[in-house]
Amino acid sequence: MEKPKKTRLATIWLSGCSGCHMSFLDQDEQIIELAKNVELVYSPLVDTKTFPEDVDITLIEGAVGNEEQLSLLRQARERTKILVSLGDCAVTGNVTALRNAWSPSERTVLQRAYVETTDVNPQIPTDIPKLLKQARPLHEVVQVDYFLPGCPPSADLINYVLTELLASRTPNMEGRSKYG
Ligand code: SF4
Repeated sequence: MEKPKKTRLATIWLSGCSGCHMSFLDQDEQIIELAKNVELVYSPLVDTKTFPEDVDITLIEGAVGNEEQLSLLRQARERTKILVSLGDCAVTGNVTALRNAWSPSERTVLQRAYVETTDVNPQIPTDIPKLLKQARPLHEVVQVDYFLPGCPPSADLINYVLTELLASRTPNMEGRSKYG
């Protein structure tokens, strides 16, 4: 008998601290259950270089902050059936967007990050992607299907949303704590 097709899952890390991915991993043994039904086709957790075609669900951590991320986000949207904003940076901009109020100038932001707050060998790198004028939540750039708030969202909440989506149900976030 032919094995049932696994859901093709991707995760992306844009301008975030990786805390949302840590929370994803924090699902502990529930990940084993997930793995029975899911094939992880793209993620910082696996060694795949290009975003694949025909992805069922993509979880995206972080706001969109530079041109490389913008391009990846648009590509992921084109190739994904269900796109989920994972965590407050993706949902609202959160800490990533603090730079928006401070300065819209790329040079000033880089000067602050790489020179003014650096003790050893301060210099602005030349081989980094060009910053967007402002860091943006995902839904301001592409259509987002579900929002999974929290900083980070709790592992239980991530597991609940994934379980519902895998069962082709709509997650009901009402009354659910984002902090577990
Ligand atoms: S939402 Fe919080 S945990 Fe997730 S990337 Fe942003 S700062 Fe980190």
